[in-house]
Amino acid sequence: MTDIYAVIGNPIAHSRSPEIHARFAAQTGQDIDYRRLLAPLDGFAQTVAAFIAAGGKGANVTVPFKLEAFALATRLSARAQAAGAVNTLKFDGDTIFGDNTDGVGLVADIVCNAGVALAGRRILLLGAGGAARGVILPLLQQAPGELVIANRTAAKAVALAQQFAAEGPILARDFAAVAGSFDIVINATAASLSAALPPIAPSVFGRAGFAYDMMYMMHSKEPTVFMRFAAQHGARVRDGLGMLVEQAAESFLLWRGVRPATADVLAQLRA
Ligand code: NDP
Repeated sequence: MTDIYAVIGNPIAHSRSPEIHARFAAQTGQDIDYRRLLAPLDGFAQTVAAFIAAGGKGANVTVPFKLEAFALATRLSARAQAAGAVNTLKFDGDTIFGDNTDGVGLVADIVCNAGVALAGRRILLLGAGGAARGVILPLLQQAPGELVIANRTAAKAVALAQQFAAEGPILARDFAAVAGSFDIVINATAASLSAALPPIAPSVFGRAGFAYDMMYMMHSKEPTVFMRFAAQHGARVRDGLGMLVEQAAESFLLWRGVRPATADVLAQLRA
């Protein structure tokens, strides 16, 4: 019997997750069917219930339902609890297990795929929305020297720094007060979606620094405006496609008990 999975969002037509999971299934010999599921904006819980009734075993959750998925889960992983958001659901009898694999996906892409160590480094995280929130704990677990969060609405960055204070060296700063250079600058704002730049000084990019934009280009190989800006000021740059593939591999592991190799899948997507 083929097990059924889905990615649920609105909009969803653009999602590359079915392609990624189909490649993982072929590689690991797992018999799964992974589809796109468009949920009405006011009908996430009903869509999940209907999917479970139809035999669905698990789902990825994307914009704008990650908070609703968090609320719907009857059991949560520690990292989902810390993130306050869920991107992976696993259905088992009456249990809806909620996990968040975005943060480990980001860390795997930076550390393993890009070969950039985070331990002891000075990291600047731009943004304090769902994506930023999900990556803070996995970043702090890498024992950075310092993690500075800056956000347009400064109070949100301050609240996150307070929430995670016990987990490691984390500070909040206004964009205007971000000073000095960083080894790693991560853009977790949605600014790139509108071709805008977060208001940061070029001096944040240290010499031989690394800049990561969580956004990835769907149909073009053009770098984002953030990647261009960082590259102009000396940073090595990377987009978020590897994070997408790595978070998918972690979801696949949760569902199927086997973690697929990601390098070829990422290379095929880029091609
Ligand atoms: P949210 O809507 O939850 O948060 C948006 C964040 O961006 C907020 O911090 C907001 O600031 C900030 N922001 C929005 N516009 C601007 C701007 N013009 N200038 C400065 N800051 C801005 O979005 P998410 O956190 O869910 O997503 C953020 C990005 O991460 C998106 O590009 C998304 O595609 C990407 N992403 C990539 C993933 C991957 O697998 N590669 C996974 C998840 C997300 P404020 O608080 O002031 O409104």
